[in-house]
Amino acid sequence: MLPITNQYGLFEVRFESIGGLGANIAGKMLAEAGLKYLNLNVASFSSYGSEKTGTPIKTFVRFSDPEVPIKINSPVENPHLLVIFHENLINALPVTLGCNENTIIIVNTKKSPSEIQDMLKIPTATIGTVDAIGISLEEKVKFNGILLGAISKAIGFIKPEHIKGIFEDIIGKKYPAVLEANFRAIERGYNEVKIEKVKEKKEYSFKPFAKPSNLIGYENQIIGGLVVNPGNSFSKDLSASRNGLIPVFNSQKCTSCGMCDIVCPDLCMVFIEENGQMIMKGIDYQYCKGCLKCVQICPVKALTEGVEAEYDVKSMTVKLFTEKDTAQNHR
Ligand code: SF4
Ligand code: SF4
Repeated sequence: MLPITNQYGLFEVRFESIGGLGANIAGKMLAEAGLKYLNLNVASFSSYGSEKTGTPIKTFVRFSDPEVPIKINSPVENPHLLVIFHENLINALPVTLGCNENTIIIVNTKKSPSEIQDMLKIPTATIGTVDAIGISLEEKVKFNGILLGAISKAIGFIKPEHIKGIFEDIIGKKYPAVLEANFRAIERGYNEVKIEKVKEKKEYSFKPFAKPSNLIGYENQIIGGLVVNPGNSFSKDLSASRNGLIPVFNSQKCTSCGMCDIVCPDLCMVFIEENGQMIMKGIDYQYCKGCLKCVQICPVKALTEGVEAEYDVKSMTVKLFTEKDTAQNHR
């Protein structure tokens, strides 16, 4: 029944995500669908960073035929299916480690499979892209159902009806009002994912799986070193925590009252002193998780809600710290 298995008879799946996007529950739902409707053996678990919303998380799912026991409990190193829950993760993390030409890769993005191949820098693969953010904004649901619908199309053995059945079991009891919208999201994920075996590009190469390690540790952290960047980590990048909406700053309307700076949980606002007064200059989107508290508080509508895909966030970013600041604090 499984289309392909490794030497242990397992079909293996890895989700690359950020805490809060629902990868953990999506993994459990995918496994549950295989168990309930296909009688497969299944396993699902997640590996968290510091278990907070906004930190990287990996979810692993294994399937095997009923007569093959699952005896491995370690992370999935060479996935048959890789799902990237947010396009912004591609620049922040080495998400494709352990993939090969047979891996199916699903990405939440508006881009085409070949554009994603260039972002991932992999020689080839079967790549599926689906605009889960756009669909979730339209249907007012989380990404889970959309990506599970896309996964169903990509792997074939789990059907959209199986996913819907699991949603009915889990969401139907607790939140019946959103069940229909999630059913639509599953169908849209299934119908709208673009799956393509991309052409081989010899300038790229696959990289073997490697366990993640900290950039700073007891061997290279300076004694008494101070990490001054927001989020308590100089490598923190919250771009992948955003659900498609960003605050858009209009300096013409801003009175530099500082209200946005008070409510922002991640200290993203950049204020510079000019003639003895602190002036609001903009937002460092590296640390912005898109909570939009600043938009709600701004008394003069100098901050408004915008759809991220319609803006060039990189060029709008005002950096909180210079490269010199970072170098000084992380020598
Ligand atoms: S709350 Fe609005 S007006 Fe006040 S500093 Fe922020 S952007 Fe400017
Ligand atoms: S949306 Fe506004 S308040 Fe929320 S993290 Fe981004 S800048 Fe800060």
